[in-house]
Amino acid sequence: MQFCFEMDQETWKKAFATFCPRCVVRLFCHDWKVLKMSEKDIVNFLAENNDEQIETSFLEIEQRRSLQVTELQNGNGDEMNATTDFLCISCLGILMTPFLEDCSQKVAETVANDNYTFNRFQCFYFLPHQLFVSDKVSQDTAKQLFGANAVENEAHDVKEIFKILMEPLVTAKLKVPRSIDANFEIAINISHREAEKKVLPVMKSKSPRSFTHGKGKHPAKRLKPLDGVSIAQVKHAISKISVEELREMSSSLSQPCKVEAIQLNHSSVYVGGRYNKYSRTLPQTPWIIDGKRKLENSVQEFLGGPIKDAFRADGYNFSSSGREDVDVRMLGTGRPYLIELINPRFPSVPQAKILEIEKKINEQTSDISSSGLQIVSKTDCKRLKEGEEEKTKSYYALCRFIHPPRQTQLEKLGQLKDLTDVEIKQTTPVRVLHRRPLAVRIRTIHKISLRGFDDNKQFFKLELSTQAGTYIKEFVHSDFGRTSPSLRDFVDADVDIIELDVQSVDVVWPPGFK
Ligand SMILES: [Zn+2]
Repeated sequence: MQFCFEMDQETWKKAFATFCPRCVVRLFCHDWKVLKMSEKDIVNFLAENNDEQIETSFLEIEQRRSLQVTELQNGNGDEMNATTDFLCISCLGILMTPFLEDCSQKVAETVANDNYTFNRFQCFYFLPHQLFVSDKVSQDTAKQLFGANAVENEAHDVKEIFKILMEPLVTAKLKVPRSIDANFEIAINISHREAEKKVLPVMKSKSPRSFTHGKGKHPAKRLKPLDGVSIAQVKHAISKISVEELREMSSSLSQPCKVEAIQLNHSSVYVGGRYNKYSRTLPQTPWIIDGKRKLENSVQEFLGGPIKDAFRADGYNFSSSGREDVDVRMLGTGRPYLIELINPRFPSVPQAKILEIEKKINEQTSDISSSGLQIVSKTDCKRLKEGEEEKTKSYYALCRFIHPPRQTQLEKLGQLKDLTDVEIKQTTPVRVLHRRPLAVRIRTIHKISLRGFDDNKQFFKLELSTQAGTYIKEFVHSDFGRTSPSLRDFVDADVDIIELDVQSVDVVWPPGFK
């Protein structure tokens, strides 16, 4: 491989005074083999392939820089500022070895501090928009400086090279491979504060298209570019501004880029199970009215709290196959539920540990219990809500005659067992009208049977099997005629419901649970 450039030593010196060695070869459009070399090897490569004097020119520039720093350090300390440090006008320092080392070290430290468990990772990079400006300016400078040797076509993108150089460094430090489908995501935010203050505002004022905060298409919603301006907006602005103006804007920049933030995120992990509720004063979810909490606990918190802690997640979302009212118990095999864990530090917890978590849930209170707890796949999660309307639910209802019953009414009660698959119309109940739209729903009462009386035959117990979504309380007392026909119609008496228990929710969940 030969790369011969007809350039004198003065031009090489100017090149090394303006660009870092990697950007010098980048602007000559060298291949990846050279671009991936260390800076020292790049200089050696250029010297070997062109003129040995090149190395001397580079070292001379390096020496002059370190002399300047030493002079300032020995003189007045206040004058010591970044202007004496070399700033590559093209990559603003991010392709230089110290920056790459520092950045990968910060990634390793951040990951270690947050104690994530993972076996693969993927990285997302948010680089300062100033790099687009610098790139345009430096390509123009390269043409002036290198003449015919400069790039004909576009040079390799700084961001692309940065990614390729960072990957082996991060992989070596984390000791696990990178994978595009890894669930553990690292977002590296690099900023250039000086450019954000000096250049971006000028570009905003000169661009006909207004700058707004971009929504970001990032797969992990938590990980977003810090300045919120989209790449498309910056590219559009650059296309409208001349190179001379861009050069003028950037000329005062003296600081290199900075690692602004390393953000970590593990994609959600899902845990499924079934719960029973034995209390008539426990709501399923926190009960808050006008910003005030009505009851201290909820099923959701009893289940979600210990699971969240065990997976060391930032938070969780609770969902379930339907819900029962605060005063309704959930008996039998329980109700299927799902917990989505947000950003868990321990994403894969062995089943033995899951059983320990479940034990912990069950030891908190006698008001609820959990069973069948297990990690479930994202695909399985859809099954929890699938066909919810068609599912059958069965109940025990303790009811009473408001007035002492007549013999005919008791007989009608006994005949209920003959009713099968009766369709009823339910207008949205009065008690939920404030949160549900007004509608008439058709529901099916599959079976209904009398299970016993008290001594006075005023209280009686019914077993009902209905389509999911049936309002049982309203079916019993008719809700001022809004549910029709109702139990009131069937027995021709004023009846009311005292207590309700859900006996079964017929959904196979979590997978394999019987
Ligand atoms: Zn550079």
